[in-house]
Amino acid sequence: MQTSAIRLLFCCISLLYFQVGQLKANEQLPINNTAITTTQQVDSALEQQLDAMLALQLTDPVEANNQLTAIIAAMNERTPLDTKVRALTYQLFNALYASDTAATEESLALLQQFKQSELSLSALVEIQAAALEVDIFQNRLNEAYLKAEQIQNLMTDISNPRIRYWVNTLLARLFLLDTQYDKALKHYDLALDALFDTADSRTLVRRIYLSQQSALVHAEQKNWQAARQVLEDAYAEIKHHKRDELLPDVYLTLGFVLVGQKDFAAAEEINQRGLALAKELNQQSLAITFMNNLGSVYIQQENSTAANAILEQALAEAEQLNDEENVQVIKFNLGYTQIMAGNHQVGLQQMQQAFAYYQQRNYKAEIEDLLSWFAKAYKLMGDYKMLAATLEQQMQLREEMVTAEREQNTRDLQARYDLKSQSQQITILQQENSLQEELIKNKKLQQTITLMFVVIMLFAAILLINLYRKVRRTNKRLKEVNKQLEFQSLRDPLTGLLNRRAMQEKMAKRHISGDAAPCALLILDIDYFKQINDNYGHAAGDAVLIEISRRLSQLVKDSEMLIRWGGEEFLMVLNSTTATQIDLLSQQLLKVISELTINYEGKEIAVTISGGFINLPFAQVPEHQLNWEKVLQIADMALYLSKVNGRNQITLIDGLKVPFAVAEPHLQSDLNGAIRENQVSYHIISG
Ligand code: GH3
Ligand code: MG
Ligand code: MG
Repeated sequence: MQTSAIRLLFCCISLLYFQVGQLKANEQLPINNTAITTTQQVDSALEQQLDAMLALQLTDPVEANNQLTAIIAAMNERTPLDTKVRALTYQLFNALYASDTAATEESLALLQQFKQSELSLSALVEIQAAALEVDIFQNRLNEAYLKAEQIQNLMTDISNPRIRYWVNTLLARLFLLDTQYDKALKHYDLALDALFDTADSRTLVRRIYLSQQSALVHAEQKNWQAARQVLEDAYAEIKHHKRDELLPDVYLTLGFVLVGQKDFAAAEEINQRGLALAKELNQQSLAITFMNNLGSVYIQQENSTAANAILEQALAEAEQLNDEENVQVIKFNLGYTQIMAGNHQVGLQQMQQAFAYYQQRNYKAEIEDLLSWFAKAYKLMGDYKMLAATLEQQMQLREEMVTAEREQNTRDLQARYDLKSQSQQITILQQENSLQEELIKNKKLQQTITLMFVVIMLFAAILLINLYRKVRRTNKRLKEVNKQLEFQSLRDPLTGLLNRRAMQEKMAKRHISGDAAPCALLILDIDYFKQINDNYGHAAGDAVLIEISRRLSQLVKDSEMLIRWGGEEFLMVLNSTTATQIDLLSQQLLKVISELTINYEGKEIAVTISGGFINLPFAQVPEHQLNWEKVLQIADMALYLSKVNGRNQITLIDGLKVPFAVAEPHLQSDLNGAIRENQVSYHIISG
């Protein structure tokens, strides 16, 4: 009888799930608006309207939906995103639970679009969780697990108790589906934690929902006593708060747990109470479920009369509601009660008819269950051959189902792994992409900077080159000017010959460099020049000076100097030379000057010149004793002698005939005296 009870209870569980489904829709409500974190931007008025709308869902879903439509219509671009997301999530669920696929997709797409905007973390989690609910409802569990993992990562930072409560119950439901009971319980526990942050009219509803869910988890693991305890506490709480409208769900779950515990008397009592309440609340479907459960309990108690009576009643109501599934289950169970009562053929036929309904639909799990009933029935009938055949058939089906389930599980795991790996790959690719983009950006930036640097350096280089050229030009000009200045400072402007300064510099350098090489000084003075000026004019005198300069220049080497020493006086600084050579030069010189007249404006001007010659140092007397100026003085005196002796001649001082000390007094001013006293030797070259 155990199997039949379970079979009946499946029906009860499926209904319970349905009701849980309704609860779930109601439970994604904010706990209250004052509890919403300050980081969220919400429209308090609209949020309050949403709260009211949720409260209405339980009693008048149609009106609640109208209100939701009105709230959404009242939203505009100034409505905070968090409130918008919440309202649109409810709209999505309305479409989802009504199995309106197109509207669901549209709503979901609308919500997903918000992810492009700047969202609070709570709103983002709400959107993700909404998508997860869609996946669960549409049985895309692999996608759901992937989303669940992402949501779990985000949940740690969520403080809004509404989101924490709702999302944790959602995650718990998902893990329950996957028989991961420990994880499911953990999330129910977290949902319960979220409830501590709130206290409003709906807190009890949520607590009861959580109690039932955790009782179901215990029941799934056959921890009947624990499940019973949780539910009895919930029952007491409801009673305490006088919220009887919450009792039917607790009765259903408790009835299931009590049967599991084999406390049939208590199970009967609870289902009776549930039935009475369902009738009182005028909830026919719910009443049918309680009647089914009662029938199951009676069958367990081997009370076929009572079972038959209540199941007949249930059948009538299910037929009235056109609830085909329930009709078939009840008929099957009724058939079984017939067999229990000894009406074997009638009962078996009834059972087989209902069985065909499931076979047509290939509901394997149901078929496997029903086969247990057949086995029990054949046992009651004493038909052991059929019993053995049935058990055999059942075993085969079980094996098939186990294999199929195993394969499905493997496929699921594989698909889950693939999905996860895919999503990770996408994340990695996205990261790589953004890294690449960043690198490209950096590279571009670097290139721009390099280009700018090159351009700046180019400009700088051009500027520098220009500046350098300018400086060079300026330097060159400066040099030229300096050269010119130097030239001007060392040259005589009329003749272009070196001037006295040049001579002084040369002599100064001669000593500084320590290279006081011996040289010779020849001083020259044009004869009767005054007369030239007087006779031909000053300009003619200038012309004569120029021409004399030119002729004299031809006689000096590059390494020698020709200086305009005074008005019509010239000084030659010659390299040290022999007496013969100097005699030759003197003759040449006198000749070059006197031989040709100088033509000036058609007038032929005859010119002669006189000179005095001396060697430096003179007669081996060191220059510190007898410097170039003193030596030149002697040459000047020699020139004077040339003048006195008739001009057009050069007097050459050859040396000393007496020690320098003896000759020195005369040499300073009176060459003539020295000659007279035979201190100096000399000779004359005449022109
Ligand atoms: P001596 O034979 O004794 O040298 O007779 P001199 O006429 O040459 O006598 P002196 O040396 O006294 O005369 C030099 C004259 O040269 C005096 C001056 O007027 C003239 N003189 C000096 N410098 C220049 C010049 O640059 N140009 C011209 N035209 N005459 C100048
Ligand atoms: Mg003179
Ligand atoms: Mg003269």
